[in-house]
Amino acid sequence: MELLTGAAAGGHVAAGASGRREEARHCAWCGRRLPDSGRIGRPRRYCAQPCRQRAYERRAAVQRGGLPEDAVVLSAAELADLQDRLFQLRCAAEDVATAADDGADAPELGRLARELAATARGLERLR
Ligand SMILES: [Zn+2]
Repeated sequence: MELLTGAAAGGHVAAGASGRREEARHCAWCGRRLPDSGRIGRPRRYCAQPCRQRAYERRAAVQRGGLPEDAVVLSAAELADLQDRLFQLRCAAEDVATAADDGADAPELGRLARELAATARGLERLR
């Protein structure tokens, strides 16, 4: 189910094709979607303590290296993993295009589009 949050400060904002605004907050370390806390006050930045800890350690390491504090540093393995997942997403999108070219009917295209959306959701994490 899609979780819609209100005006969560700093949240990722994406405008859907329908024009409605959809905001979802993501863990600042792993990129997984954060549950809506429902609380008033400062929204959480990390999904769990290990993410908070690793973000702190990476920040310290980045500072020692002289890079800006907000630099995003991925290891070669993390980048390769991200690229693999983007490739999965492209394949799912191409499946929809191929089905449309082959004259698939609306229910079939709907099924493929939902599959694509599910794949994309699984790829939101960065690490
Ligand atoms: Zn996390």
